[in-house]
Amino acid sequence: MSSAKDTDGSYHTDNDCTTTCQICQEKLSDSCESCHYNDDFDTSDCIIAKGTCGHHFHFHCISRRIKSHAVCPIDQIDWVFEEYIHNVDNL
Ligand SMILES: [Zn+2]
Ligand SMILES: [Zn+2]
Ligand SMILES: [Zn+2]
Repeated sequence: MSSAKDTDGSYHTDNDCTTTCQICQEKLSDSCESCHYNDDFDTSDCIIAKGTCGHHFHFHCISRRIKSHAVCPIDQIDWVFEEYIHNVDNL
């Protein structure tokens, strides 16, 4: 069996889930897709939510997603909200 691991043992992915929202694919430092295309949205409201699994998404994106499916879109485990991140530098 071949593995996807590099010689240094770390995984590399094209999508950096610490800086990009994996739901809308916009940068976490930016507003989410709905805020981008909807002038009625208050973008100051567009904060980042962190789950206990350690993944970050726009609060708007994850709250819409978990209405139908309360799991993290990345690791498919139960999404449990941990905290809001107001400053992306703290990620
Ligand atoms: Zn998003
Ligand atoms: Zn938003
Ligand atoms: Zn996760």
